[in-house]
Amino acid sequence: MQKSSNLPDARNGPFVVIRDKSAPLYIPHRSRNVAPDMWSDYPLSIPDHWHDLARAKGFRIDRRVRDRGHLALQCLTCGAHTAVKIAALRTSAVRCGGCAAQLRDANAQDADLVFLRRDENDHHYGVFRAACGHEVRRQFALIERVRAGETGIRCGACLVAREEAEARANGWERLGADPKGNPSYRLYRHKCGHKQRIARANMRHGQCDCSRCGESWSSKPSTIYLARIVLPEVGLEVLKFGYSANPKLRFKHQLGLSKSARVTMLRLLDMPTGHLACSEEKAANARLARDYPDSVVPHSLYADLINVCSEIYTLDLLLRIEQEMDHIAARIPTR
Ligand SMILES: [Zn+2]
Ligand SMILES: [Zn+2]
Ligand SMILES: [Zn+2]
Repeated sequence: MQKSSNLPDARNGPFVVIRDKSAPLYIPHRSRNVAPDMWSDYPLSIPDHWHDLARAKGFRIDRRVRDRGHLALQCLTCGAHTAVKIAALRTSAVRCGGCAAQLRDANAQDADLVFLRRDENDHHYGVFRAACGHEVRRQFALIERVRAGETGIRCGACLVAREEAEARANGWERLGADPKGNPSYRLYRHKCGHKQRIARANMRHGQCDCSRCGESWSSKPSTIYLARIVLPEVGLEVLKFGYSANPKLRFKHQLGLSKSARVTMLRLLDMPTGHLACSEEKAANARLARDYPDSVVPHSLYADLINVCSEIYTLDLLLRIEQEMDHIAARIPTR
């Protein structure tokens, strides 16, 4: 079939595009350093039997270019022009630059990205616009893995914005990367002015004590919550059972929920301290995961939609979680 013979393998080499007077001319990447004006028409006739060879590979010979050894072929599938060596007509499969570009754009679209341009210095990388609007630089091979659902595209700019919001919600300011180079840590400034390295995961959960003013998360009041989250993108409706010093803020900023997600707080349980909220919630979640493993939603289903690693359940666990909350409420020391 002609059509499939023109479809390039995305793992093969890329093309560069030359805009000459009429249509773009795709040039194999290995010839990228040949000056653009070298690809002008070359005044020699085309032997008849070459046309048959080209047609058999899904192309039409448009003209001779550059020198005795090159042709500009037009793809019968997409109409794009690609420069090839004449020898390729006889020996190798001929790839169409236009079909390659279409495939690359379609792959990006499947991964929720818009291809913008190829990286100048490394042709394994492209620059894309992510769904959030930011530009991201990623390997083409990674885009394949995103399409296959093996991984996601995490936007660095959005991640920083999320970390800043997490810090603000806890009375800190995110200053930047860890000066000691630990990728799990960031540098923060407390509202008292003190700068401190804190694990990002601890900041996300509001578990950060200031070593100067002594303000401690574990002695501040907290809330255990049960929420229902609807994620229209994946047709998922789940329960989140956790604790936070400020559940409303947590949901808005800290879970990194997609814009279309809808959150309903089903129940809030005031806890006298973060320490107590943490230990009760952890114990309850451990019991639930142990007794109802089939109701624990696999992380892979929502990895890119909710910014947590555990504590997401299917709706059938609603009454069981309510029971856990009843038991916790009965254990809370009266104030
Ligand atoms: Zn084509
Ligand atoms: Zn972004
Ligand atoms: Zn402080």
